[in-house]
Amino acid sequence: MRPARALIDLQALRHNYQLAREVSGVRALAVIKADAYGHGAVRCAQALEGEADGFAVACIEEALELRAAGIRAPILLLEGFFEACELALIVEHDFWCVVHSLWQLEAIEQTAVAKPLTVWLKLDSGMHRVGLHPRDYQAAYQRLQASGKVEKIVLMSHFARADELDCPRSSEQVAVFEAARQGLGAEISLRNSPAVMGWPSVPSDWVRPGIMLYGSTPFEENNSVAERLQPVMTLESKVICVRELPAGEPVGYGAKFITDKPMRIGVVAMGYADGYPRHAPTGTPVLVAGQRSRLLGRVSMDMLCIDLTDVPQAGLGSTVELWGKNILASEVALAADTIPYQLFCNLRRVPLVYCEG
Ligand SMILES: *Cc1c(COP(=O)(O)O)cnc(C)c1O
Repeated sequence: MRPARALIDLQALRHNYQLAREVSGVRALAVIKADAYGHGAVRCAQALEGEADGFAVACIEEALELRAAGIRAPILLLEGFFEACELALIVEHDFWCVVHSLWQLEAIEQTAVAKPLTVWLKLDSGMHRVGLHPRDYQAAYQRLQASGKVEKIVLMSHFARADELDCPRSSEQVAVFEAARQGLGAEISLRNSPAVMGWPSVPSDWVRPGIMLYGSTPFEENNSVAERLQPVMTLESKVICVRELPAGEPVGYGAKFITDKPMRIGVVAMGYADGYPRHAPTGTPVLVAGQRSRLLGRVSMDMLCIDLTDVPQAGLGSTVELWGKNILASEVALAADTIPYQLFCNLRRVPLVYCEG
């Protein structure tokens, strides 16, 4: 069988979740939207269910998949409902629901619900994506209270630039949030992974770590929490062909790499159809037979080429780590001008193989 696969270390996932709780000191919703950033939402939720305070997903489809798999913990819908008719299912399955727009508030007011809801009321504190305008926030809170359809409200907002530690924007967003919530005696939730890892003074009763659960850092610079994260996914495959080329020979589509000396090239069963980024350039790090080496030439759909010239112990059948515990996804992301989030989410075709440690 094709040797490409993604190992998912569930012990590392639990370690990272505990780290998020430890450094924040508060309850943490494990963000497992988008199939747990490509790691498999059901298996990740099952691995965390004993310890997680709850989960967060993007939409009701993702939440229903978790309930169907037997997950009983609280599940927050980060975008709330898209149509008012979802409210019946939200009540039936006890989902927590973000309200980010006035139309959602009106829908709650106008819909009969069998049981009162838990609402996370989202403020647009400056990201300008979703969230209520500060001017509408207090009134929205009062209307939810008055609707008789809500038993609990958590106040939330989301940072646009928390991964930029020297940028004042996050502090400005906190100030907007604090002003908007004045006098409202409700729990609050502001912090995503970069804010958990880099903004310890931002208040929160609940944190919402995503990328850090998977062991990847949102920062380009060093970070003391990042050093304690354990990568969860190892994307690996094997060398399926080895060739020796003299100097001056092209490698792969478009002849984007030309040997500058006699070289040994390994062909790896991994390509952009697996989610490996096609635009990763020559020089992107890989690990082969335990040693760091580099990508050569263009990534094709099912294969890519790597340099074995200085890795004499590598040959046919050698294991190649594309990213994981040695080659960090953030290194590959940097080389390919993207972010680890997208590398993980783009994963496809390769089987996910779960392990503990
Ligand atoms: C995705 C998401 C998160 C998690 O973000 P990370 O950067 O992965 O930690 C937190 N909160 C909201 C509202 C999100 O959409």
